[in-house]
Amino acid sequence: MMKHIPNARLSDYTTFQLGGPCSCLIECQSPDDLQKTIATLSKNKTPFILIGGGSNLVVSDSGVTTAVIRYLSEEPLIERVGNEVIVSASTILDDLALFCVSEGLTGLNYTTGIPGTVGGAVVGNAGAWGKQVGDVLSSAVILDKSGNSKQVDRSYFAFQYRHSHLKESDEIVASVSFTLTPADPLVLAKERSEIVKLRAEKHPDLTRFPCAGSFFRNIEPTPKADRRQVTGGFLEDAGGKHLKVGGAQIFEKHANIIVKGPGCTAQDVFDLHLQMMKVVKDKFDLQLNREVRFVGDFRDHKHEGFW
Ligand SMILES: Cc1cc2nc3c(=O)[nH]c(=O)nc-3n(C[C@H](O)[C@H](O)[C@H](O)COP(=O)(O)OP(=O)(O)OC[C@H]3O[C@@H](n4cnc5c(N)ncnc54)[C@H](O)[C@@H]3O)c2cc1C
Repeated sequence: MMKHIPNARLSDYTTFQLGGPCSCLIECQSPDDLQKTIATLSKNKTPFILIGGGSNLVVSDSGVTTAVIRYLSEEPLIERVGNEVIVSASTILDDLALFCVSEGLTGLNYTTGIPGTVGGAVVGNAGAWGKQVGDVLSSAVILDKSGNSKQVDRSYFAFQYRHSHLKESDEIVASVSFTLTPADPLVLAKERSEIVKLRAEKHPDLTRFPCAGSFFRNIEPTPKADRRQVTGGFLEDAGGKHLKVGGAQIFEKHANIIVKGPGCTAQDVFDLHLQMMKVVKDKFDLQLNREVRFVGDFRDHKHEGFW
């Protein structure tokens, strides 16, 4: 089912609850809806951007000038064929994790509680505890910006830590197949409830502390440290935890998470993230790289065409 929402505010569609208006937001739930919508927009030469759960985005206070497709389905669209699950990329990732528990399939349990859609997770190779969705992806149907579809296998994505080739190309994930392994549903359910508990202790409750998760990627191995290092530690040691700009502040339990306080604007978040980068650069001569994406215009820099 497709739904057109004129004059939507993107703050209603992002977990940061930030972002100004767009002229038209189109909600698509299934791969068919998505393909038809993209083909129509392309035929009419209407530029668009696509979002999923909006959990990795900071949208500018002035909004965006393009149409926005929101590819997210209220109901999970998942089919099991043997040890394979075929899922619409609009499905909420945690709905997929729960489905796999009830079906007794392991390989995606660590995604429990990660916000957003399957599509957003595949493009950013989301994960936790050293595991990432790209590890178990076997194939996917992707669309170009005209709505033409093709089936690709895992190698097409060139997955790396929180990265895939689709971050650079203009392509969109319509549906995904994951190859999983049979496991005891009771063991998986126990593991799931432990993850839920752990995440509730560590991560911000989005109803009280709107945010987009970890702001910067962890630091890649260097000649001095051969393992990826946690960015939050560097930020903390550099005094980053006490930084604040307007209503944008650092989550008290995690120096790498910016949360929205009272009166916070997207520009406040932008300015705060620059300060975080500066303190780490000054103290450790390290360049932090963003995990979160800026969409639209911000003072100082223009972040456009992010796909
Ligand atoms: C409280 C909290 C905790 C988090 N914890 C984790 C964690 O443990 N691990 C982790 O990896 N991430 C984590 N995140 C970040 C976020 O949840 C993931 O990056 C998530 O996968 C983003 O999915 P999304 O659907 O919300 O994408 P969006 O934020 O909507 O979009 C992000 C990017 O993906 C693109 N995109 C979205 N859907 C598609 C599609 N179908 N096809 C092509 N491109 C698409 C968008 O164009 C955009 O460029 C956390 C975020 C929050 C708020």
